[in-house]
Amino acid sequence: MELISFEEAYSIVMNSAFETEIETIAFTRSLNRVLKEDITCDMDMPPFNKATVDGFACRRVDLGVELELIETIPAGTSPQKIVSEYQCSKIMTGAAIPEGADLVFMVEDSVILTSGKVRYTGSSTKDNISPRGEDIRSGDIVLKKGTLVRPQDLALLAMAGRTSVKAGKQPVVSVISSGNELVEPSVKPVLSQIRNTNSYQLMAQIESAGAIGNYLGIAKDDQDATFEIISQAISQSDVVLITGGVSMGDFDFVPAVLERAGVRLLFSRINIQPGKPVTFGIHRKALVFGLPGNPVSSFIQFELLVRPLLWEMMGYQWNPLIIDLPMEKSFERKSAERRAMIPVSITKDGLVSPVEYHGSAHISAFSKATGIITLPEGKKYVEKGEIVSVRQI
Ligand code: AMP
Ligand code: MG
Repeated sequence: MELISFEEAYSIVMNSAFETEIETIAFTRSLNRVLKEDITCDMDMPPFNKATVDGFACRRVDLGVELELIETIPAGTSPQKIVSEYQCSKIMTGAAIPEGADLVFMVEDSVILTSGKVRYTGSSTKDNISPRGEDIRSGDIVLKKGTLVRPQDLALLAMAGRTSVKAGKQPVVSVISSGNELVEPSVKPVLSQIRNTNSYQLMAQIESAGAIGNYLGIAKDDQDATFEIISQAISQSDVVLITGGVSMGDFDFVPAVLERAGVRLLFSRINIQPGKPVTFGIHRKALVFGLPGNPVSSFIQFELLVRPLLWEMMGYQWNPLIIDLPMEKSFERKSAERRAMIPVSITKDGLVSPVEYHGSAHISAFSKATGIITLPEGKKYVEKGEIVSVRQI
């Protein structure tokens, strides 16, 4: 199958996305989920004129005179008295402003005289009142349909009293690793074995995208065994990720097995590094990826193709945050044939520094990276100080 550009691959994947169903969930379970409805607030916020500092509520015209203290208003208690000329009420942050008062001066700017009266000692003061409805009006939309819920959004759901919300169902994503050399992490590898790292990295990436990971284990480099496990995965998931077995080696038959399992392959090579042998296809409603065996490639291709797909399926249109920053030092790559994704870290001075790494198996180096930059096809050098676009990973 022909080598296609990343843009083509991305649009093929995104055009294959189907939206998952809608379900109603407790708001406490909504972290990393995508809202399928606008959320409106059922009250003004703040609901009353509110003191924003601890202090004394009075009339601004009376700031210069000694004030009679008429009551103390804790948060959660309604004021009982009207503040009139030459009077004040002691008030706590978050309490309702008493009628008659138009400002609160801070405790720090006050003195209580031996007479019991209160005097303002500052030179100028703000009102320190947050008026009713200043932040939100009853009926306002506080979160839009399509929002990927973050912790601060849970605060808004709580504020709006939305204890249950409509969200996109979580896609079920099956994970398979392939390779005779692989053993699970609890096993000490012997001879030519290595530990399976991809599956656990992918399961964590799936979880961080708010989807449900379904780990199916390691497939041996055997056509029938791979066929069995792929068929099982297809029957029980929305998305299937199988890593390894997609290159040009004698035992790299994942694309062939996918076809045998009824997957219609839409591409199997992308002009990008790392990640050239990424395979993608559809089986009825299951979307199937053959990801590269090397863990750095698998990680990056998940971020570039699978995460946006999962979010699209859940109803969230993602635009990754990309920040332009200067290079700390010059950088050269060996060959500029393909577009390259280079893992980088960002120095404390905000400079971009490519991590020293030996290639896409070098996960200890990759774990030091906090972003990736893209070098287009044909670009071999990046100068010190040159501005590059960093995508956070
Ligand atoms: P493959 O695409 O199967 O040729 O694998 C490419 C490289 O990635 C080989 O060095 C494999 O040993 C390695 N590899 C494949 N699968 C995994 C895995 N699940 N965890 C760690 N390394 C892997
Ligand atoms: Mg292999």
